[in-house]
Amino acid sequence: MAETRDVVIVGGGHNGLVTAFYLAKAGFKPLVLERRAQVGGAAITEEFHPGFRCSTLAHNAGSLRADVVRDMQLKQHGLELVTPEVSTASLTTDGRALILYADTKKAAQEISRWSQKDATGYADFGNALAKISKVIGQALTLTPPNIDSPSSGDLWGMLKTGRSIRNLGKKDMYRVLRWGPMAAADLVSEFFDTEPLRATVAARGIFGTFLGPWSAGSALVLLLRAASDPEARARSRKPWQPQQGKPAQRFVSTLMSPKFESRMGSPPA
Ligand SMILES: Cc1cc2nc3c(=O)[nH]c(=O)nc-3n(C[C@H](O)[C@H](O)[C@H](O)COP(=O)(O)OP(=O)(O)OC[C@H]3O[C@@H](n4cnc5c(N)ncnc54)[C@H](O)[C@@H]3O)c2cc1C
Repeated sequence: MAETRDVVIVGGGHNGLVTAFYLAKAGFKPLVLERRAQVGGAAITEEFHPGFRCSTLAHNAGSLRADVVRDMQLKQHGLELVTPEVSTASLTTDGRALILYADTKKAAQEISRWSQKDATGYADFGNALAKISKVIGQALTLTPPNIDSPSSGDLWGMLKTGRSIRNLGKKDMYRVLRWGPMAAADLVSEFFDTEPLRATVAARGIFGTFLGPWSAGSALVLLLRAASDPEARARSRKPWQPQQGKPAQRFVSTLMSPKFESRMGSPPA
């Protein structure tokens, strides 16, 4: 007999699994179809040699949102996020290394060995980025409003966003408008003189994209990354996670199985 479902999700990568989780929470009974024998997509851990496991594609946790971690109780199901003390080591051709620590004060101390002005600039940049990206981060969680006939929820969301932009104050409001279309290289040059520091911070605006540091809009990528990764706003990289695949397997085996069904090795007909 033909089986009917209200929602079928094709692909059991982390986006498919998270979507299924929230749909199940909202009372639907989604079916996830995954063509591989394992769910998790790019976030899987595999054994490449007996006894040796690693994340075989993604090497860091990307923009994993804190509310998703909380809602899905990922920590209780084995997720461990590791923040290395050193976030980036940038090597120069003259044999020096610029070390950026996760701790902003320690990073500023290290930068002061290169330039006292840049050490101060690093803290200023971090503060401005934190303020602006918080507002952008809030806006990213909203469902885009219906422009033709906005609902009361849409209007409330727009009002809240407008208010938080206004609360930034004139200087940072102006920065939001000016920074977005800029090149990341231009943006970092406003704060730093030291070339390795400029390159390290700007890298976050081009990593994983087809942009270069002088591409228009690369500053926006940097802002968006900072907005979706509040723990690592000024640094170039995010904390990483050694066993990324583990929670994905547990989503299915323990947390979600009563709520939604996942069939592996099931490409759609
Ligand atoms: C080389 C590389 C490195 C990356 N490194 C990182 C990183 O370190 N950190 C990070 O955050 N992001 C990284 N990314 C980006 C990240 O991989 C993606 O943003 C993420 O995987 C998207 O998740 P997803 O669930 O949408 O899709 P995916 O993870 O791609 O999952 C899709 C799933 O759908 C299944 N599928 C596809 N077609 C079908 C079908 N027809 N029927 C059934 N199943 C199907 C696939 O088997 C897969 O399991 C990297 C990307 C690449 C290419």
